[in-house]
Amino acid sequence: MAQVYTVLLVAAAINNLALLYLLFKRPERSSVVISFTLFLLAITVWGVPQIFINWLGLYQDLYVQVDRISALGYVTLPSIFFVFSLAFSRKLSILKNTLVSLYVFIPAIIFLYLSWTTFLIDNHSEQAIIINEWGYNSQPGAYFAYFLFWLESLMVASIGILISFYRSTANYIQRKQVILLIIAVLIPLILGTITDGVLPLFSIHIFPSAVPLTTVMAIVIGYAILKYELFDLEADTILASIGEGVLTVDINGKIQNTNAVAAKMIGKKSDEIFFKKVSQVISADTKQLRERLLKAIEKGKKFTSSEFVIKNRQKGIPISITVTPIEINRKIVGTTILMKDIREDKKREKSKDEFISIASHELKTPITSIKLYADILANKISQNTPEHTLVYKLQDQVDRMLSLTNDLLDLSRIRTGNMQLNLEQFNIVDLLTEIIDTMQKAEPKRKITLHANLTQDVYADKNRISQVIYNLITNAIKYSPPTSRITVTCTMEDSKAVVHIRDYGQGIPSEQQNKVFDRFYRVNGTTTDQTSLGIGLYVSATIIKKHKGKIWVTSRPKKGSIFSFTLPLADSQQKN
Ligand code: ADP
Repeated sequence: MAQVYTVLLVAAAINNLALLYLLFKRPERSSVVISFTLFLLAITVWGVPQIFINWLGLYQDLYVQVDRISALGYVTLPSIFFVFSLAFSRKLSILKNTLVSLYVFIPAIIFLYLSWTTFLIDNHSEQAIIINEWGYNSQPGAYFAYFLFWLESLMVASIGILISFYRSTANYIQRKQVILLIIAVLIPLILGTITDGVLPLFSIHIFPSAVPLTTVMAIVIGYAILKYELFDLEADTILASIGEGVLTVDINGKIQNTNAVAAKMIGKKSDEIFFKKVSQVISADTKQLRERLLKAIEKGKKFTSSEFVIKNRQKGIPISITVTPIEINRKIVGTTILMKDIREDKKREKSKDEFISIASHELKTPITSIKLYADILANKISQNTPEHTLVYKLQDQVDRMLSLTNDLLDLSRIRTGNMQLNLEQFNIVDLLTEIIDTMQKAEPKRKITLHANLTQDVYADKNRISQVIYNLITNAIKYSPPTSRITVTCTMEDSKAVVHIRDYGQGIPSEQQNKVFDRFYRVNGTTTDQTSLGIGLYVSATIIKKHKGKIWVTSRPKKGSIFSFTLPLADSQQKN
């Protein structure tokens, strides 16, 4: 029997030393690793002396000495395991509570002292040593029951902490890890306590299973380390070394991990952000944007935007956000949120905006003068002469330059918030007819038709709306074959005027459709021999949105596009 026990203890020691070796080989030194290393050391210090006790045969006085070393392991074990559970569940901050700390650490010191110096925990009286078939054993001392109570309370609390961590995380891998940990703790807790703790209190000495069973605990946790990368340490180290803020979030939007950069951006400590909802630390420019972010997190979809603000103690910091799903075994378990501080980018953009504003203002005057002189020249030169053709080309190019400069001016007005609307009541069908007539004359080879059944007036800025219509029809012309038709319809839907401009041209791929209204965006592979800055749709969209209207596109590549917008009717506006 003694041999069996010795073999078990030797196996346990080898296992624990191997795990310690594995841990030492890992470069990371986080609180989880340190506390788990201490835990392994404690069970080794507890178990290894037991091997010698069995070999020591009848030297009972030596048993007493060796068992004192053992005590160093088993008395400190509950505190160490409790700290490990806290570190694993990222709740180490609980130890800041003085009462908790006192309860966890002070009894360990007292019990260790008592077990070394008195008979109160372990009855080391040589007369009281019991010789069993598996070796020596000692009668519990007077305060052993208190020790047992303290030990069990910490182990049960550790299980409680692990269960609450299990409930708060939706991460599939973390859940598996926690289940393994709980099983690992429960086995020695129940069986080991009975054989080594409760029964000796009643002077019943059966096979002491606690040491081998605690080793089972280490084996299960060791398995969890190897199979599920228990501590996720490489990931943590990589996270810490990324220069941008990173949050990993479960599908409920709760923050599961973070790095120092993210914590600094948010203006809090990492501990304080864990398990907070993303929506509590990041706010969006608009409600719609916020909903898109939360949906991306919930569904585990990709998402990018640069219109977010992070709530810092002093001020809001503008950030760009990239949400990427985390997939494990083809299951989406959460998302990673990459946060980039874009204060510097914004500053750079501001100086670009200022440059565009100054340049377009400065260009406008000379170009307007050139246009004036070209018009005068055109009137002076008799038609159908080669000179007139040249002047006509000059006028055409100057018009184009003027329109580009106007676009740039509008852009800087929008960026500086200086675009004003002069609202009035007018008939949009008349306006459409007028514009289409003019454009039809310039494009005699194609047919531009208007279908309108709207009788009410709209309430809008006539010049700006005519700019939008002009821009959309110009695009329809620009991005479709020279003879294909263009149809414009104007109707009333949901008490709003709706205008659709349809072309049968190259169309826009679906993934780029929502981007065409962005500043400077040009669709990849668009063929046009005309100047293109990617500003027209941005300006048009801003104008429509300023009127509280909507603008959108539906399109199929090679089939054509329909650009549509809505405007409020005069009646509904006046009622407001
Ligand atoms: P620009 O036409 O000056 O490039 P816009 O802002 O008007 O700028 O348009 C942005 C981009 O959207 C264009 O570069 C083009 O790729 C695409 N686009 C706009 N209108 C159409 C259309 N009717 N058909 C196909 N593509 C279009």
